[in-house]
This record gives sequence, C-alpha cells and structure tokens, in this order.
Amino acid sequence: MLVCFIACVKSGRAYCPVDISVPLSRTEVIINEVNPELVLTTEALMLSNDQILTKKQISEIIEKEISTIPQNEYVSAEDVFYIIFTSGSTGVPKGVQITRDCLDHFIMWAVSLGNQLRENKHYIFLNQAPFSFDLSVMDLYLSLYMGGTLWALKKDIQGDMKSLIQSLECSGANVWVSTPSFADVCLADKKFSENILPNLDLFLFCGETLTNRTVEKLETAFPRATIVNTYGPTESTVAVTEVEVTPQVRGQFNPLPVGKAKSGTWILIMDEQGNVVPDGEKGEIIIVGDSVSIGYWNNPVLTGKVFGTYNIDGITYRLYHTGDKGYKKEGQLFYCGRIDFQIKLHGYRIEIEDIESNLMKLESISKVAVTPVYREGQVKSLNAYIVSKREVSNSFSEAQRIRAELKAFLPEYMIPKKIIFKDQLPMTNNGKVDRKALGGI
Ligand code: AMP
Repeated sequence: MLVCFIACVKSGRAYCPVDISVPLSRTEVIINEVNPELVLTTEALMLSNDQILTKKQISEIIEKEISTIPQNEYVSAEDVFYIIFTSGSTGVPKGVQITRDCLDHFIMWAVSLGNQLRENKHYIFLNQAPFSFDLSVMDLYLSLYMGGTLWALKKDIQGDMKSLIQSLECSGANVWVSTPSFADVCLADKKFSENILPNLDLFLFCGETLTNRTVEKLETAFPRATIVNTYGPTESTVAVTEVEVTPQVRGQFNPLPVGKAKSGTWILIMDEQGNVVPDGEKGEIIIVGDSVSIGYWNNPVLTGKVFGTYNIDGITYRLYHTGDKGYKKEGQLFYCGRIDFQIKLHGYRIEIEDIESNLMKLESISKVAVTPVYREGQVKSLNAYIVSKREVSNSFSEAQRIRAELKAFLPEYMIPKKIIFKDQLPMTNNGKVDRKALGGI
C-alpha cells in the first residue's frame, strides 16, 4: 500500500486510498467518481470489465518501458497529492483533494507537536487508522519524514484484545496516534500501561472529543507520557489546532479545549451571516490557511458551498466552513459539536443522511430516520427508525435482514445497532422528520 502511494506521487499522480473492508458497491462508487487510469490493489478486487495486470506483467512494463522519473515530475506544490473520500450527506462519498503544499505545511507543524521529536533519533509510530482515513496521514508521513518506523495495527488485531495487547507490547512504540475511542478500547484492559509500552513518550489524538476521563486514565497508566489533543477535518489536512493536555489543563477545563491554531492557519468563529463574532461567543468554526484543501474532487457545487478565500495582511488564503460549532477563549478553541447531521462514531466520520439514503435503497423501507445515541457527550451507537412497506411480524429477524442487506452498501461501522419499526415517523411543523422527538440530534 505504502509503496503504491509513493510510486503514484513520484510518477506525478495523486493517489486515492480505499479500504478493502468497505463493500464493493461503495468501492465502485469511488472508482467511478475518480475514474482513474489504473487501480492498484493488494487484494483480489472483483470489478467487472476490468483489464487486470498481474505483478509479473507490471514488472515487465517497468523493465521495458519505464526509466527513472526525474524529480521535477513528482507531485509538487499545488498538485494534488492524495484524495481521501469521506461520508457525504447525499449517500455518495466526497473526495477531499489535498495538495503537496498542504501536506508539507501540515508535516512541518506536526513534527513539533508535544515538543518531543528530535531529528537524529529513531522513532516508532503507531498506526491505528486505516490508510483511507486522513488520521493515518499523521503517523505515516511523520514516520517517513523522521526516517522512523511505522507499526501498523491490522484490523483483525484491533478487534481482538489479546492480540492487540500483544502487538502493542511487541511494537516498542514511542509515538501513539489514534482517535480517543481507540485509546478507550485499550484502556478497558488493565495490562494497557507503561509496563507494556515503556518507551511511549507521546500520545497524539485527533478526530473526536477527547474527554477528561480518558486523559485521567492515561495519566495513571502512562505517567511519563505527553498527551496532545489536535483538531481538524480532512478538508484542512488532518489537524490544525493543538493543545498539550497536562494534568493542570485537565483540571482547569471540562470539556477540554482543542487548542491553538498552527502557524499559517487562522481560526475564525462566524455567525450565520458570516460575521466574525467576539471571543467567548459561539458560532461556526471557519479554517483559513495554508493547509486547506483546494476542494472536492469533481464536485464544484459542493466545493463552492463550503470552500472560499479570505484575505489576511494582503495575502489570500483558502477558507473552509467546517460545519463545527465552537468558540474561542483566551486564545484556545473549544469544540461544541456539529451544526448539521454529521457525527463521529468510534472515530469514524459519518453523515447521518448517508446511512438514511442507503437504507432507502432497500425495497422494504418506505421511510427512515437514523439518530445517534449519546453517552457523556459522545456518540456510542446509532438507532434506525423505520417505516416498513410490509407487515413486520418478527421485528428481530426483520431487523437482522435489513442489517444484512445494508452491508452490501455500507461499511460495518455505519450499520445502525438498533432498528426500531414504527407505523409513522414524527414530523416537525415544517414537514421534516422530527429527530428530536425520536431522541436524536
Ligand atoms: P475527519 O474529516 O474524519 O477528520 O472529521 C473531522 C471532524 O471530526 C471535525 O469537523 C470535527 O467535527 C471532528 N473532530 C476532529 N477533531 C476533533 C477534536 N479534537 N475534538 C472534537 N471533534 C473533533
């Protein structure tokens, strides 16, 4: 996978990583969207009408036809380096285009996180996020840039506590990069402490709310380690703010701040009219700066809606409307949830409407509303309220059937845990499904 990434960018082409655990239909949607000349797969991919080249044929082409590519043809400056697809509210994922400059600006900042990384030391970075999620960019490119080692935790290992603890123990990791949810999974095992990871100096978190409770547990299990919370969407290259969560910071703030913007980035809080609001007031978090994406692949309408430009000291930067709510206080940014129907579940970014549109593809369903179930401010699972076209005599087996059918369209983490059948869904005055009445957002 990693060799393929580097090969693409060294041949002057962007790459678009797709997770093999995603259903084939969703992979096909992405491939059709991107319409690439070449699909490189590490697994057998049963795509129709495709001309498949074997490794041997590829080697022959390389030997016969390809000489060394000069460095000036590599992906550079404002060329697109990668496209990462995220959940889209129409049921079709959207491709975020990140340029080489965006990535460079991100890495130059990320090496300073926690003030830990020294140039002449060899580090082992932990990789938890699949390469199709942009959190993986943090550990992958930090390890490449620092000449370190990347210890990738395979999906099957992550699903089995005993193997996971064993793998962590063997890793010798120095830098931990994950969502807070993954740390919570590990913290559920008493063995997860500095005893099995004696060289772990730095925890880097991103992607969802880091709670005071998680930090407190980590402080006990890893008293020597530095904990850093970072915030940002895929659209602004992984992360743009940081805060070191010391015991003092944990004691002072609940919820925790997401920190200060990196250099080259400005965070603005705007009201619905697009005016910047004073400190302390809540509004939409707007990111301006040198790591904001050039927009969504092949989607000028959506790009125009959420991306723009902003002038700072006579220089024009790209701007992105995050759809996140937040406020600034004493220079720190605080995150207060979403202004739309996007959520984070176990670190995965999900548009609720993406699940609903895919459920509506099932023949038996006439209406649907998906709602998140919250505990301590975090989404713990999803409920789907369904009006069925046919008589439901056994709701358990019908729910199982729907879940199984949905698996053809959506990855496992997007399948609602609970399916509740209703004769009708409650409506608001303006004719929308009343999610609040269902106990959601
Ligand atoms: P993704 O593009 O998958 O990285 O998801 C981006 C979204 O995750 C952001 O717009 C936020 O809603 C949420 N997010 C990212 N980092 C944090 C954080 N440190 N705390 C709370 N939410 C976060």
